[in-house]
Amino acid sequence: MAFESLTQKLNDIFKKLRGKGKLSEADVKQAMKEVRLALLEADVNFKVVKELVARITERAIGQEVMESLTPAQQVIKIVNEELVALMGPAQSKIDFSKDITVIMMVGLQGSGKTTTAGKLGKFFAKDGKKPLLVAADVYRPAAIKQLQVIGDKVGLPVFSMGQQNPVDISKAAIEYARKNNHNVVIIDTAGRLHIDDELMDELINIKNAVNPSEILLVVDSMTGQDAVNVAEEFNKKLSLTGLILTKLDGDTRGGAALSAKAVTGCPIKFVGMGEKLDDLESFYPERMASRILG
Ligand code: GDP
Repeated sequence: MAFESLTQKLNDIFKKLRGKGKLSEADVKQAMKEVRLALLEADVNFKVVKELVARITERAIGQEVMESLTPAQQVIKIVNEELVALMGPAQSKIDFSKDITVIMMVGLQGSGKTTTAGKLGKFFAKDGKKPLLVAADVYRPAAIKQLQVIGDKVGLPVFSMGQQNPVDISKAAIEYARKNNHNVVIIDTAGRLHIDDELMDELINIKNAVNPSEILLVVDSMTGQDAVNVAEEFNKKLSLTGLILTKLDGDTRGGAALSAKAVTGCPIKFVGMGEKLDDLESFYPERMASRILG
């Protein structure tokens, strides 16, 4: 289960605090040392941990907590609030302000990008939208086929021009969408095993050609800090509008979920919770913090 070890450790720390009744400053500081270690072990970014623990400590050794009748409870409340603030603010919505909402899906191979494109299409269709999926990952014929299979499963059309130039495909897809009353266009762009200039240039070219409402980076939460580094690189080049963390149903330690927003400044918009095409949820920082605190 995701966050299992982190949740267990935090609960142990809080249990010790509860057992003490009134807390001294030293008690809080000791507990914070342990929280810091637990977060680092969960692969949360070092700088993020440092700043987070400093904020929690400052609030926790404040008068209100120390003089409260339930100081441990107050400390837990502060940790919860700071986790929410770290992953938030509040869930960020998709920008549907244009007639046709163009969404570029970007990400490394294996992150879950193609599956998530289908999940997102299904998610929007349920909401009354008319999505069109676009096969612009042209280097692997299998990727086009995969999107078609997913399109069939979710009952959405897939626009494909085989292995032609992805910029031309994307432009033609938007034209097609306009003529056929699709109001959401989800472009599945190429994935690679590693970030390289060629990939980035291609994505920049598509971005410039289609002026998307959203550029969503799909990252695998199982890869922890690597996911966050990938997000930073993509964001530098593309100015992402949001992140989608996949595989949160697995035994991810928590690092990506807790660090991604703080490190990149990009909000997490959705989370992938399984292999099935229904397993996509809007991201709510409060819900994630509750899961982490158990
Ligand atoms: P792409 O190469 O980035 O397009 O990745 P795919 O969409 O092909 O996904 C790679 C693998 O991850 C597939 O086996 C998917 O079923 C799986 N996958 C994608 N999202 C999730 C998720 O949220 N949870 C789980 N458990 N598996 C996922």
